[in-house]
Amino acid sequence: MSKSSSLVAAHGICKSFGSIRAVDNISFEVKPQQIFSLLGPNGAGKSTLVRMLIGMLPPDRGKFLWQDGNENVAMNRAKIGYLPEDRGLYKDQPVAATLEYFAQLHGLSRSDTRRVVQNWIERLELCRYAKSKLETLSKGNQQKVQIASALLHRPELVVLDEPFSGLDPINQELMVNLVREIRSDGATVLLSAHQLHLIERLADHVMIVAKGREVLSGTVAEICQGPLGGKTLRVEYEHPIDKALLPEIRRDVEIQGIQLEQPNLVVVNLDAHQNQLGCLNKLHEWGPVRTFQSRTISLHEIYLRVASDTEQGPTLGETE
Ligand code: ATP
Repeated sequence: MSKSSSLVAAHGICKSFGSIRAVDNISFEVKPQQIFSLLGPNGAGKSTLVRMLIGMLPPDRGKFLWQDGNENVAMNRAKIGYLPEDRGLYKDQPVAATLEYFAQLHGLSRSDTRRVVQNWIERLELCRYAKSKLETLSKGNQQKVQIASALLHRPELVVLDEPFSGLDPINQELMVNLVREIRSDGATVLLSAHQLHLIERLADHVMIVAKGREVLSGTVAEICQGPLGGKTLRVEYEHPIDKALLPEIRRDVEIQGIQLEQPNLVVVNLDAHQNQLGCLNKLHEWGPVRTFQSRTISLHEIYLRVASDTEQGPTLGETE
C-alpha cells in the first residue's frame, strides 16, 4: 500500500441518540503509520465515532472503509487493537493471567502467549506486579495493563480512547513513547485525548470536533499557522503602563487582543497574517522596553478559541 492511500476512511458518518446528534456528517482519512488524534470537548462525539469505527455501534449514515475502500473496517476487527474509554478488566485476576487470557482470545499460541505477555510486562515496567491482582494496582498501572491487552496481537490499527487518562506525568511520557514505538513497528494509531500538550508533540494529524461536527483538521503546524493561528507577543516595559491606554494601543496597532498581565507587562495576540515588526515598533512608542518574547500560539489556545462556544451542550434536532 502506498503512503498516500488510506488505511481507514470515514465517509459522512452520522449518529443520533434520540434527539441528541452525537456525530454529524464527519469524514476523515487515516494514512498508514499515521498518528491521528481526535480532539474535542466532553460530549463532542469522539467516543461515539470511535465505537462506530471499530464496529461496536452502527452509524445511522455513512461508512468506515478499510484500505482505500475495499472492505468495511468492522470486517477487519482482528487487525484492530482497542482501548475503550470505559476500562473493563476483571479486578480480582492477576496481571499476567489477565494478559494471557487476552492473548489467547486474540488467537496467540501458548508459547507465543508467554513470550508476548512477558515482553509487555517488562516494557510497561509492571514486573513487580505480574502476580498481583489488578484491584491492588494503582489506577495508572491498571491502565497500563489495559493498554497492553489491546496491543498483544500486534494490531495494524490501534484505537486508543483517552490513553493518557489516569496516568501521572511520568507514565504519560511512557505512553507517548509507546505510541511512537508502535507506530515505528508499523502500526497506525487513532487516539482521542484531552492532553493537548502531548498531542501537539505526538500527532501527525489532528481533527478537532465539537457538537459532533468537524471544526478543524490538519497537522499541528497547519492549524497553528492557519487562519485561527497567530502569535503572542509579551512586552515587558521598564515602567508601568496606564491601563487606560490599552484601547488606544489596540486601535493604533489593529491587534486582535491585548491584556495588561502585570503593571508593566503587555501581552498582545496577533493574527497569523499580521506584521509582527510593525506592531513591535508601535509598542516601543509607549515606553522603554525591558524584554520582549514572541511565540506562535499553541494548539491549546486554538482549541480554546474553537471549542469554548460549544459548552452549551450537544446539538439537538435533525440534520439538514
Ligand atoms: P468525552 O470527552 O466526555 O468522553 P466524547 O467526545 O467522547 O466525550 P461521546 O461520549 O461520544 O463524547 O458523546 C457524544 C454525545 O452523545 C453526548 O451528548 C453523549 O451524552 C451522547 N451519547 C453517547 N453515547 C450515548 C448513548 N449510548 N445513549 C445516549 N446518548 C449517548
